[in-house]
Amino acid sequence: MSVDKKETMGFQSEAKQLLHLMIHSLYSNKEIFLRELVSNANDAIDKLRFESLADETIVPEGTDFGIRIDIDEESKTITVSDNGIGMSREEAVSNLGTIARSGTSQFLAALTGDQKKDSQLIGQFGVGFYSSFIIAQEVVVESRSAKLSPEEGVRWSSKGEAEFEVETIKREAIGTSVTLKLKADESEFADGWRLRGIIKKYADHVAVPITMKQVATEEDKVPEDEVVNTAKALWTRSRNDISDEEYSEFYKAVSHDFQDPMSWSHNKVEGKLDYTTLLYIPAKAPFDLWHRDSPRGLKLYVQRVFIMDEAEQFLPLYLRFLRGVVDSNDLPLNVSRELLQKDPSIDSMKSALTKRGLDMIEKLSSDDEKYQSFWDEFGQVLKEGPAEDFGNKDKIAKLLRFATTETGEEKQNQSLSKYIERMKPEQDKIFYVAAENYHTALNSPHLEVFNKNGIEVLLLHDRIDEWLVGQLNEYEGKPFQDVAKGELDLGNLDGEKDDKQKEENEKKLSGLISKVKDLLEDQVEEVRITTRLTDSPACLVVAEDDMGIQMRRVLESAGQALPETKRIFEINPTHPLVERLDQESDSDRFESLALVIFDQAKLAEGSQLDEPANYVSRLNELLLELAK
Ligand code: ADP
Ligand code: MG
Repeated sequence: MSVDKKETMGFQSEAKQLLHLMIHSLYSNKEIFLRELVSNANDAIDKLRFESLADETIVPEGTDFGIRIDIDEESKTITVSDNGIGMSREEAVSNLGTIARSGTSQFLAALTGDQKKDSQLIGQFGVGFYSSFIIAQEVVVESRSAKLSPEEGVRWSSKGEAEFEVETIKREAIGTSVTLKLKADESEFADGWRLRGIIKKYADHVAVPITMKQVATEEDKVPEDEVVNTAKALWTRSRNDISDEEYSEFYKAVSHDFQDPMSWSHNKVEGKLDYTTLLYIPAKAPFDLWHRDSPRGLKLYVQRVFIMDEAEQFLPLYLRFLRGVVDSNDLPLNVSRELLQKDPSIDSMKSALTKRGLDMIEKLSSDDEKYQSFWDEFGQVLKEGPAEDFGNKDKIAKLLRFATTETGEEKQNQSLSKYIERMKPEQDKIFYVAAENYHTALNSPHLEVFNKNGIEVLLLHDRIDEWLVGQLNEYEGKPFQDVAKGELDLGNLDGEKDDKQKEENEKKLSGLISKVKDLLEDQVEEVRITTRLTDSPACLVVAEDDMGIQMRRVLESAGQALPETKRIFEINPTHPLVERLDQESDSDRFESLALVIFDQAKLAEGSQLDEPANYVSRLNELLLELAK
């Protein structure tokens, strides 16, 4: 088959789904089609400019880069043209007929069918070229790649249903024109003023001129061309001249996000290094924040020339949610990803940008409500910080938020500084409990003595939390202490602590302790009297230097082989079940009751039983005795 032939092809199934959804859920936002087309035209010009750094013959002589918008009021069409990089026939087929972005199918699976929610999600995904079909009954793309001859142009067209057509055409000009044939009820868009309004709103920051024909005012005057945008890269302008709306729209163009950003920071740095940065904190995490290969990093420019998207060398991983641009005056124009890795100036830019990012987040933290919504979106990522960036550990620690026993809320909304302010005068540690989820943490038996004495405890329930406090080690000189680790000595903090009583109990129960120890020999390291419990009969703890139980679970579920360590079994001398156990003379019954208490200690901390059926039958036997 000759490739010159006209072919009809089907959209990739994901593309078809997305197209369909977009047309239906973005109906109230239809004017964004123009932003998307202009942004693609601008990207294409950026790419050609970049290619010409290596080979300047690729750009025809006398080229003035720019975007044109033409309207035909008669036939109700809008055409957006650029003299950018263009597309070959194959590129048109793959770029316009498929969606390459990773995670697309998961994304589609996450859609709910609820239009309002889905339109938010689609916004996060980035709507792109397909948004044309919201208002167009047919879209025709004509293009010629700057790398190919006029005979190798392409015409791509589609009515936005299941199929598109491609054919090879002759096209003199390099670059692309996208023509939208408007749907009958969208003809209002074939209007010069309307389109100018949309450009002002969404695309004023585009750095190349966008040209339109003047709107004719007098019958006999031939309308001239005029530039309808500011045509200056936004970040090169002075902060005072940029409105919040402009910052927001620029963010949307850079991030492909739909919503306004939460905040931004725009800075020019002059001195040894000379660069400008514009960083944004998004309002919502992108759907693919946790994908390994999801887009991250800043848009890199060198002397206003676009160099690359997703330049990830300028920010640490734990700030990967920040978006924006960095424009350097020092880097060479031919800089590549490999060179970026080696360039010594990148390190110092990275640490300056990291500081900027953290400052921006700290500033946000003065507004509780805003900060909470930031934390809910990105807190998990920020928690990776202390391990990745030891030098900024204290700065990051200030930004952390936790759930605690004080608030009785699952929301992570308490800072470590607040915790320290509320600490008891004699308290010298930051106590925490770590569990699989909030409720297991909140109801942990290890908290009993703390609750009784009104001592606040952090309730850690994100997988990363225990590892995080391990990295932090201390905050404002106060070490972190796992409430389920080691011998607990609260000293004066425990109002009812009574060393003499404890000694007596130990003496009184020494027989019981050694019997339980014999019984559980294979399973526990030690059996001892607890100082932690008030209401529960028993609990399990780990030795001071052993790994916390939740951390062990996380690592094991990640496939790490860990050496077995035995736990310490603590029993509560004042609990009636323990007293009963002490008096039990029947050895079978003693064993049953002791094992039930032991298994319950495991269950209460959220652990799995090795033999749950045995637990159930033992417990049932004991219950049946009650019924006798
Ligand atoms: P995105 O811009 O996020 O990649 P789009 O849906 O907007 O997604 O565009 C899809 C792809 O189509 C682009 O990545 C680009 O390769 C190609 N494309 C779209 N418009 C143009 C254009 N005017 N010139 C060259 N290529 C284009
Ligand atoms: Mg695009």
